[in-house]
Amino acid sequence: MKNNSILYFLSCIIWIHLFLSGSRLYAQQTSVIDKQVLSEIMEKNRSYIKQGTIADYIPELAKMESTAIAFAVADSKGNIISTGDTTKKFTMQSISKIIALMVAVQEIGESSVFKNMGYFGSDRPFNHFANLETTGKPLNPMMNAGAIMTTSLIKGEGEDAFIKILEMIRYITKNKTIDYNKAVYNSEKETGNKNRGMFYLMKNNGLINGDENKLDNYFKQCSVELTVEDLAKIGFFFANQCVRFDGDSTYRNVELSKLIQSQMLIAGMYEFSGEYARTVGLPSKSGVGGGIVACVPGRIGVGVFSPPLDTHGNSLAGYHMLLDFVKKYNLSVFQ
Ligand code: GLN
Repeated sequence: MKNNSILYFLSCIIWIHLFLSGSRLYAQQTSVIDKQVLSEIMEKNRSYIKQGTIADYIPELAKMESTAIAFAVADSKGNIISTGDTTKKFTMQSISKIIALMVAVQEIGESSVFKNMGYFGSDRPFNHFANLETTGKPLNPMMNAGAIMTTSLIKGEGEDAFIKILEMIRYITKNKTIDYNKAVYNSEKETGNKNRGMFYLMKNNGLINGDENKLDNYFKQCSVELTVEDLAKIGFFFANQCVRFDGDSTYRNVELSKLIQSQMLIAGMYEFSGEYARTVGLPSKSGVGGGIVACVPGRIGVGVFSPPLDTHGNSLAGYHMLLDFVKKYNLSVFQ
């Protein structure tokens, strides 16, 4: 009896200790995310701007201001902390692929979306499509071929699918002013012959039904303009079971957020995804507009923006900001 009481007493002490050290750790990791820390990280990495190259294969993107740089976090309580050119708008480009995937899966279910598409990672660039000839299917929904097919699966005529994607972006960011940039859209449409080629190959293989409006919806979703704060809110949403930064849980869906974060982790940074998982270790999605969105699962969302890109099409300063941020707060999913 006496031994039991001692054991009980000891286990209480251990639990209290674990609880206190756990909350201290949590406080250490979250409370100090303030504007000053973000600014320090941003300034430290500003010089990477000079080492990257702005995407010019879409001529309108070449007009982007190369020195613009911004960093935003939606913390675990949904507060937005940001620094740099936070009001500067840029096009989402490939970041839009995670929203299109969400809309398609919600509408027709995961098994239908992945019926003709893999869950594979890749050692190839975003516009690689040789496997459409070999296996006949896109590798994943994060590379262009799979993304074009995913958007084509969203129901509706004309630009209906695009409007659904746009409305979802407006909902997640709680920002009704978000729209697409017509000049970038026209530029993508005029020069996107490789994407057009993939579209017709998939149409030929019976993976896509419908006319070129379906491809235009993909070009439009890539041309949606937003800010780095909007990106952080998108990161928060997928990190937190599709619950919005202000707590609105209309779309709460654990499986959907797991699916999207897993795709971001294995293919969100294209052929750099493996090395990125090793160094940063967070589900992330980049776009050639210079944005990267990252999720700290169950906790916070991060957005970075800087137009000059590395050879894989990922923002160079953006990558280095994320790298320092993750190191400082020990945020990699691999602990
Ligand atoms: N709109 C771009 C394209 O299809 C998107 C590519 C990207 O952001 N990686 O080429």
